Amino acid sequence: MNIETLNADNVVEFIADIFERRGAESYLGEPVTMSEHMLQGAWLAEQEGAPDVLVAAALLHDIGHYTSEFGPYSPDDVEDKHHDEAGGEVLAPFFPPVIVECVRLHVAAKRYLCATDPTYFSRLSPASVHTLSLQGGPMDGEEVAEFRSNPFHEEAVKVRIWDEGGKVAGMKTRTFRDYVPLLEKVVKDFAGAA
Ligand code: FE
Repeated sequence: MNIETLNADNVVEFIADIFERRGAESYLGEPVTMSEHMLQGAWLAEQEGAPDVLVAAALLHDIGHYTSEFGPYSPDDVEDKHHDEAGGEVLAPFFPPVIVECVRLHVAAKRYLCATDPTYFSRLSPASVHTLSLQGGPMDGEEVAEFRSNPFHEEAVKVRIWDEGGKVAGMKTRTFRDYVPLLEKVVKDFAGAA
């Protein structure tokens, strides 16, 4: 299956299949697997009483590491190159803009927080500090202003904080399957509204 055969009725199952086949891959430099990382982000969102769309955004924020699964993307998706933009792009046909923007901005949100929250940098994992420099370092004033002009920037910051918190070995979470009904509902609501 590739992106041309995906629709609102099969996209959640498609994503669940990616998680189940590939979620055990390591999350480079972190003590958790990719699926543990994304499930932890979703769990942290839930603990804070986040709305379904933000739980979904936390759960799917790193889907851009698997864009080769969606067809017309580079097979080189193990690298950390532009997984933010690519992830937003593959979700955009099926998920509402708030989710797409949180995924697309999750790296930018890290650069934003490093520029605007003095305590945030000290909370980054060593691997996240390393990628920060590759990602352009903290934002400058102009980039901060541009980031704030995005209507979903506050949501993107929340997702980023759950992302950063989801790197703990052994945290108890739900399974991906537990989120299928939530994801189905988000997709159906968006398809219905479109
Ligand atoms: Fe992440």
